[in-house]
Amino acid sequence: MSSVVGIDRYLATLDHETLLVRRGTRSRCFTIVAVHSTARGPALGGCRMWHYGDARAAVRDALRLSQAMTFKSAVAGLPLGGGKGVIMAPDPAASARGRGRRADALRDFGDTVAALGGSYITAEDVGTSARDMQLISSVTSHVTGLSRRHGGSGDPSPWTALGVETAIGVCCERVFGTPSLRGRTIAISGLGNVGGRVATACAKAGATLLVNDIDPRKRALADTLSARWVEPAEALTAAVDVFAPCALGGLLDHDSVARLGAPIVAGAANNQLADDDVAAVLAQRGVLWAPDFVVNAGGIINISVELEPGGYDPRRAGRLVRGIGDTLRRIFDDAAVRDATPLDAAIVLARERLAEAGG
Ligand code: NAD
Repeated sequence: MSSVVGIDRYLATLDHETLLVRRGTRSRCFTIVAVHSTARGPALGGCRMWHYGDARAAVRDALRLSQAMTFKSAVAGLPLGGGKGVIMAPDPAASARGRGRRADALRDFGDTVAALGGSYITAEDVGTSARDMQLISSVTSHVTGLSRRHGGSGDPSPWTALGVETAIGVCCERVFGTPSLRGRTIAISGLGNVGGRVATACAKAGATLLVNDIDPRKRALADTLSARWVEPAEALTAAVDVFAPCALGGLLDHDSVARLGAPIVAGAANNQLADDDVAAVLAQRGVLWAPDFVVNAGGIINISVELEPGGYDPRRAGRLVRGIGDTLRRIFDDAAVRDATPLDAAIVLARERLAEAGG
């Protein structure tokens, strides 16, 4: 297996264009925007509102996540760069401690976005919603992810789920010779906004499902889909055709990969690999892993359509999101030719696209 620098090691470098940290005049909260690259276009990335015990952790998150956005957009072929916003909530109860305070923090964040003059465009992320984007839009126009009612592209989750479903089909095509999910067995971990939709689509396509979630209320969906509810450990180790992680990241490490029951891993969860060496371990075990930042790009692809001159068009968004399938095929082909992992091949593709744009 050839050795190409993996995503984590690449992300360890500081090569950003802009890091802006401002204390909000209304809320006194720190708001942070990191612009990693605008080589391919304005830096798009969500705004995370989170409690960080340490300001350095908040800055680190903005730096790390903005780099990841550069990769995600470049590998998806979007005319966008990578950026990320962070609002440092003062304590875990801050958002519950009165709407006014939260609204002030969001407006302060809007000022920080406005100060960058369009080199960064924000969107929703962990801790923020389409409604929050609406509020930020009262301060700056550099906002995406507004509701359909307000001219935006709405909830990104259905599009992310469509990308995951497409990716699962491409992986099945590689491993079993057909993209059809009829008769396949698929284990899905996490039945949230994305995982629930992936489960519904897979069941509709004729797959048998094993599902799990830490939230027992998700059992109702499992019952509706005639899916078997399993323990988290069983979702990972069951002898199924596909394992789709759709909850949290870091699930795949040396230990869990040794116990994996599926020959394919393709899911929505961000940062699935505990470290990038795990990509080689998966390949050595003969497991086809579809890189997470390729598979889960449907949401950002959909948002990119909002920024096109003709405005948002859901049919075009659907076509572009299904293009994740072609991107994955290319990555798997490149990986086979170079005797590299899909992670390495995806990173090489992203770098090529950045270099073409002079980045
Ligand atoms: P969500 O919060 O709606 O759903 C996550 C689900 O996972 C919840 O039902 C939660 O109870 C469950 N869960 C949490 N920990 C679990 C565990 N240990 N085992 C089993 N279930 C667990 O989130 P989402 O929007 O569906 O996103 C899912 C993943 O996809 C996240 O990693 C997210 O970062 C990533 N992602 C989402 C989008 C999007 O458009 N929503 C886009 C890109 C990436």
